[in-house]
Amino acid sequence: MNSALPEQVPCPTCKKKIRKDQSAHYPFCSERCQLVDLGQWLKEGYRIEGDEPLNMNGDDED
Ligand SMILES: [Zn+2]
Repeated sequence: MNSALPEQVPCPTCKKKIRKDQSAHYPFCSERCQLVDLGQWLKEGYRIEGDEPLNMNGDDED
């Protein structure tokens, strides 16, 4: 009977296996990993936004 086995998921930042019911910052293992991931997401958003103006030559291909 293994039905009570807790589900484990890897933290998106450090890949450490954590239990959903054990982390207050699920799916991250800690607040630190959560902030690191958020920081990367913001940085990527900035980079993509910063690239947009370079493509302004009237062509709006979908
Ligand atoms: Zn982590």
